[in-house]
Formats: sequence, structure tokens, C-alpha cells
Amino acid sequence: QPHIGGAMSTLLGWSDASRTIAVRTNVETVDAARTALSFGAEGIGLARSEHMFFSRERMVALRRMILSEDEEQRAAALRGLVDFQTGDYADIFATMRGRPVTVRLFDPPLHEFLPRTDEDIEETAVSLGFSVRALRQRLERLAEVNPMLGHRGCRLAITYPEILEMQMQALMSGIRAASRAQAEPVRLEVMVPFVSTASEVLFIRERVMAILEAADIPAESREAFAFGTMIELPRAALRAGEIARSVDFFSFGTNDLTQTTFGISRDDAPTFLAPYQRKGIYEYDPFVTLDERGVGELIAIAIERGKAANPGLKIGICGEHAGDPASLKFLAGLGIDYVSCSPYRVPVARLTLAQATQNPT
Ligand code: PEP
Ligand code: MG
Repeated sequence: QPHIGGAMSTLLGWSDASRTIAVRTNVETVDAARTALSFGAEGIGLARSEHMFFSRERMVALRRMILSEDEEQRAAALRGLVDFQTGDYADIFATMRGRPVTVRLFDPPLHEFLPRTDEDIEETAVSLGFSVRALRQRLERLAEVNPMLGHRGCRLAITYPEILEMQMQALMSGIRAASRAQAEPVRLEVMVPFVSTASEVLFIRERVMAILEAADIPAESREAFAFGTMIELPRAALRAGEIARSVDFFSFGTNDLTQTTFGISRDDAPTFLAPYQRKGIYEYDPFVTLDERGVGELIAIAIERGKAANPGLKIGICGEHAGDPASLKFLAGLGIDYVSCSPYRVPVARLTLAQATQNPT
């Protein structure tokens, strides 16, 4: 287990005393959560749940939920997925022991979970009881040229509410399992990805709250529960006042916000970046250093409008920029409550934010 010891640990401990912005971590696995804790993470600000579905067995069950027309088959797949996930969530809650854990609702581009090769399509057709031709037709209806701007994020939870239900049921069972073994309440925060309009948040909130209210979980965990949204699209930043009325927190996804504000794909290394930098058009790579004047202005607008509509609104930052010192200095001046970065960047974020608190710009 990596850890920090000696003088570095003492220095970080001192810096914590002068820091007002919390440092959480982005994780996909329970091992990453352990590493982040050893580096001083104060909670999880982003658990990317889609990575928990990459095993063959889970993928097959998820495909059944999405593609099958047989009610019973879909219900059985849903039960199986709840069981798989319960263990994952219980482990994360137990590892974090009463610290806040923000789980983001499933956010893959849909195509990553659909069969692509001929062999995979044939196998999936057999498991669903479809002819290969019928399955291909269904897949054609779901095909997208640009999936990163397509059927992803909260759009999936709206077209397939059973995915949302499966995740919420698993989270509730995870809370029950972890609560049996520890005195601290589980502090779960559920976060909605890729939101562009308040009605998406309302649709999902209604279902999330209904499941929470019906769930048999300890009263302390129910009280500690929070519901929030990512702000990672320019429209969401501009309509933050409406969105803030139905959430407890905003968490800015600066990766997608940079992608959609600049119109640059985050998945392609921009071939024009080097010439742009050479010719002085860009001074830096906006995916590494937060663009203060464009993306930063959108964040500032969203915080101002969000807090005006909901003064208790908590503000977090969970894109890659939350681990970059130059970006952190700027973000610290915007009145944020926490940042969330990858485990190995937690110490740098602790130091930088302590410095920013001491020497505000
Ligand atoms: C983001 O978009 O900044 C974000 C944190 O989410 P992801 O990187 O998983 O899209
Ligand atoms: Mg994102």
C-alpha cells in the first residue's frame, strides 16, 4: 500500500490546519479508495460506477436489461446486477468509514456496452433468444456516429429507468451491509452526470427519492444522504439557477465542460495543439490547465446563479483540473467547498489549497 511518511506527512498535516476546501478523490475501485485514504483523501467526490460493469458476466446481464424484450429476463438480469453491485458499494462504504462517498450514476457512452464483433453479436443473440438478424436490427437503431455526444450520462437513466433503479437498489443494499459492520453512518451522495436541463434532474430526483424513502436503511444514513448533479455542459452552467432548486450540490466536470466549451474532443490528442501553441494561439493545453476566461467564467456564473437560487448549495470540482496546481489556485477563489482528484494527486491538492487559503489572489 503506497503511503506518505516522515517529514512530508508532518508538512501535509500542518498544511491541513490552514485549508478550508476539502480534498476528496476520484475512484473506480476499492483499491484506489484505499490508496487515496493513505494520501489523506477526506472522502470520495466521484466514484465512476460504469467501470464496475466491465466483467463479462455483468456485461451480459446489462445487455439483457437493455436489449431483451422479455419482462422476466429483464427482471432477472436486474436482480443479478443488484447482487453484483451490492458487494462493490458495501466495500467502498466500509473503506471510507463515514466519510462522504459520491457515486455517479452510470455514465458510459451506450455503445461501450453493446456487442460489436460478429462473434459477440452471435453469442448475445443466443443468450437473448433473438435471431442474429433481429439483434442486428436493434443494434442499428441504437447506433451513434458520435456516442460521446449521444446516449450517455443521465440520458441513459431516463430512457432506461431500470438501470437507475438497479443502481439505487444496490446502493441501498450496500448501505445496509456496511452499516451492520460499522458504527459510522454511510454518507452516500448520488450524482447525476451529463445534465443539460433541470427537467432531467427532476425526473431522476423523483425516482431516487422514492427508492430512498422506501428503503430499509439506518435513519442516520437517510439523513446524511445528498442528491446532486454534475455541471459539465455549458447549458447546465447557464441554467444553474433552475437546476440548483432540486439539488444539494453541484460538482463541476471540467473534462467534459472543456470539451464542450472549446468544441475539442477529449478522446483525440488534438493534432492542432502543437501548431496552436507554436503560433501563440493557445498558451497551454486546456485539458491540463483550466481555461480561466471561458470554462472558468462558466463555472463562476453557475456558482453565482446556483447559490442565488439555493444558498445552501455545496460546490465541488471533479474534473482532471482538480489535481492541477495552477487550476486549483484559480478554483479556490470561486467559493468552492471541495475538490476531487485522482488518488496520487491528493497530496498536491492538499498543499496547493492550503497555500491558496493563506495567500488568496
Ligand atoms: C468530467 O467530465 O470532468 C468528469 C469528471 O467526468 P468524466 O471524466 O468521467 O467524464
Ligand atoms: Mg464527464
